[in-house]
Amino acid sequence: MAETDTATEAVGERADTEKSPQAVEEAAREANAKGAPRPGQRAEVTNLDIVRHYFQIAADQLELPDDLRTVFWEPYREVTVQIPVKLSDGKIHVYSGYRIQHNGARGPYKGGIRFHPEVNIDEVRALASLMTWKTAIAGVPYGGAKGGVNCPADKLEPGEVQRIARSFMDKIEKVLGPTRDIPAPDVNTNAQVMAWMMDEYGKLHGHTPAIVTGKPISLEGSYGREAATGRGCVYMFREAAPHLGMTPADTSFVVQGFGNVGSWAARIMQQLGCKLVAVSDANGAIRNDEGIDANALQEFISGGGRMTDYEGADAIEPEDLLAVPCDVFIPAALGGMIHEGNADGMQCRVLIEGANSPTTPAADEILGEKGVYVIPDVMANAGGVVCSYFEWVQNLQHFRWDEREVNDKLGNIMRRAYREVSARAKQENIPLRQASYLVGIERVVEAARTRGYV
Ligand code: NAD
Repeated sequence: MAETDTATEAVGERADTEKSPQAVEEAAREANAKGAPRPGQRAEVTNLDIVRHYFQIAADQLELPDDLRTVFWEPYREVTVQIPVKLSDGKIHVYSGYRIQHNGARGPYKGGIRFHPEVNIDEVRALASLMTWKTAIAGVPYGGAKGGVNCPADKLEPGEVQRIARSFMDKIEKVLGPTRDIPAPDVNTNAQVMAWMMDEYGKLHGHTPAIVTGKPISLEGSYGREAATGRGCVYMFREAAPHLGMTPADTSFVVQGFGNVGSWAARIMQQLGCKLVAVSDANGAIRNDEGIDANALQEFISGGGRMTDYEGADAIEPEDLLAVPCDVFIPAALGGMIHEGNADGMQCRVLIEGANSPTTPAADEILGEKGVYVIPDVMANAGGVVCSYFEWVQNLQHFRWDEREVNDKLGNIMRRAYREVSARAKQENIPLRQASYLVGIERVVEAARTRGYV
């Protein structure tokens, strides 16, 4: 859409898989029929099934004809590359890297890069599509994209991760650019990885800070970017709380996944006066009904401590985390963690989706029946991309805003998104998730129509 085709030589061929919504729903039903996953497991349905399900419901409601459905569901461009890297065991390991540009009607493509062994092309497709709706809901002038490499980054040495990041950039740079596609961090990538990627791009194109966001402060990163996704989740809580009769002082919360998003959400919720009562990461889960100090825990974990060795709480089974009674539950790990095998046991009033696609459609239905107020990923975790937009704007102007200015602007955008979506939800008497997708899809369709693309 916004893109020309000058870079098509880098475009990989996509496997010819059956992708009709009906086929996927059927596969999901079949998977579910084989038995629900246990509480601590990820669901059998994929992230792509999850996003497609919600897209279909909104498309039905908008009475989007089949041809337009295909345009707005299918990605615009998919790049698949091979990344061979010699690791410290002396062997060459071959990883697969993906960059998927889903829709660019509203502006340059934007989306994070994930390093995780479970990364696959369908997961990246799902996450790219989510970004399209997310940027539209937040009202920032971007399209949606996502990238990933299926490497076990958390088990690799920094030098090895650096080689993968640089090699990935070398292979996808033809479809990137500050007015084309701007990556950012996601699971297992961070400001350091963005610095390496910017440096690699600079070798070919000259110093170009606006090529990636989420960079370190010392390399034209934005104040507030690192905390932005977690902070955005807290803005959601602040907007919803008065309508639900909740006050921070009376609010207990649980966080699943104590990484970038989860640890910042926890620290900022705590600053507001809320109490963290249980938390987990990939190494385990802990609980203390009297409260866990999120700042002390962050220091402990970043100093190399294991979650279950933290002294201020008791270790619990990760699968018991979801059933811990609390007012707010914040999933901030991977997709598909809340599914039909554990949703019924959840004891929260509000679910704020920091992670992407944490809730399967079956679980979403169960939570709806239980009266849990779900603030969906496409809106709740938009703080990261909003602040990435601020970073990009600052880079293009070679100008820097202070942290207060960044946080104030972030608050304005997150509040506006919440108010617009919740007004739509009330008007149509539908859940926030459905209203978010309606708002997002409508804006993208309108942009594509106005351009004359459809
Ligand atoms: P991260 O790598 O910093 O943190 C992920 C955390 O999840 C880690 O603490 C990890 O130990 C934990 N984890 C992994 N498997 C787990 C499991 N089975 N149970 C419990 N915890 C587990 O990643 P992040 O950037 O914080 O991203 C987390 C989620 O938020 C992802 O879904 C990501 O797509 C989404 N997200 C991130 C951003 C961002 O700005 N970083 C923006 C929007 C959405």
